[in-house]
Amino acid sequence: MDDASRTLPAHADPVTTEEAGPTLLVKIFGKDRPGITAGLFDTLAGFGVDVVDLEQVVTRGRMVLCALVTAPAGDGAVEGALRSTVHAWAESVKMQAEIISGTGDNRPRGTGRSHVTILGYPLSARAMSSIAARITDVGGNIDRILRLAKYPVTAVELTVSGTPTPQLRSALAPEAMRSGVDVAVVAAGLYRRAQRLVVMDVDSTVIQDEVIELFAGHAGCEEQVAEVTAAAMRGELDFAQSLHARVTLLAGLDASVVDKVRAEVRLTPGARTLIRTLKRLGYQVGVVSGGFTQITDDLKERLGLDFAAANTLEIVDGKLTGRVTGPVVDRAGKARLLREFAAQAGVPLAQTVAIGDGANDLDMLNAAGLGVAFNAKPVVRRAAHTALNVPFLDTVLYLLGISREEVEAADSETL
Ligand SMILES: [Mg+2]
Repeated sequence: MDDASRTLPAHADPVTTEEAGPTLLVKIFGKDRPGITAGLFDTLAGFGVDVVDLEQVVTRGRMVLCALVTAPAGDGAVEGALRSTVHAWAESVKMQAEIISGTGDNRPRGTGRSHVTILGYPLSARAMSSIAARITDVGGNIDRILRLAKYPVTAVELTVSGTPTPQLRSALAPEAMRSGVDVAVVAAGLYRRAQRLVVMDVDSTVIQDEVIELFAGHAGCEEQVAEVTAAAMRGELDFAQSLHARVTLLAGLDASVVDKVRAEVRLTPGARTLIRTLKRLGYQVGVVSGGFTQITDDLKERLGLDFAAANTLEIVDGKLTGRVTGPVVDRAGKARLLREFAAQAGVPLAQTVAIGDGANDLDMLNAAGLGVAFNAKPVVRRAAHTALNVPFLDTVLYLLGISREEVEAADSETL
């Protein structure tokens, strides 16, 4: 190749299908082994063709390699020679080859691009069919499919174009519920990769417990606490009223109970993996809780979190007074704290992710760039951007496009 032909074009506008020349799509299928890609391109190199597009996937040891190349210069005889040479090479390595003539590059993708993550436990063919059919119904086209995880859930990510993200999300949410799978729809693009702050609720999100119930266990007032909780759920009390009513029941409890409750708290499966992986990727991670700083500060320390905020149980002379100090962290408070953490982290709100299970989390979930309802009540599930209904918190990583393989590779590197 001489120097002149290496010079880049003066402008880099994409070549449209109409003005582009003839191309050949070369598809190779068969048992994956080292050297297939090198062999194919070595064969093609003899005809001086250029690469227009290239994709390869391997599933259970079988590879599909699709190369879109410019047609060789010269008459039909040259193209015929290319075809027979590629077929002969494929036969020699026990692969199947298919060569299809055409013009130009792929058609440009439709506008409106989204990532659709489907999580199944298991992922049935029936569910896959229903979700794919709804995508088609709203004018979407599946451009790519990639498996993100096979454990603890099967997770696949579809890149869909041709329909706006909100329309796709509203079409798929009810289908996900009917099909018994989790489906998350997020806009594709740079924003997704720029997400840099994750803020999580604590009770029944980062931990499996409700902290007030653990305290109530030590105070012998589980039933009274449960009654207040039920009244709050019926809408008879707002959050602050129910918090005060429940904390009052703890008055006189010895402060040593705090350590006992800290020891009783059970992390949600996947919580450590989620936080460790996010930290490695440079995310800042925080928790906000309608529970108590006596627990969230300990979690912050143990899990290496950047932010933690909650209500504080007042302790005087070694006893709980039955009161909380400072402003109450309620539904509005959680959203306010998300904004504060984002400001402190220097992250725009649109690049934040919030995760929670309760009605108390809804303002925060809606204020975040991506709100994830985690094993939430139906009212929360319906109102959030996306919902996860598998009991593993690290599945949040799949919504961010991070695969299980990448998580495990990162873990093994630091061993
Ligand atoms: Mg909660």
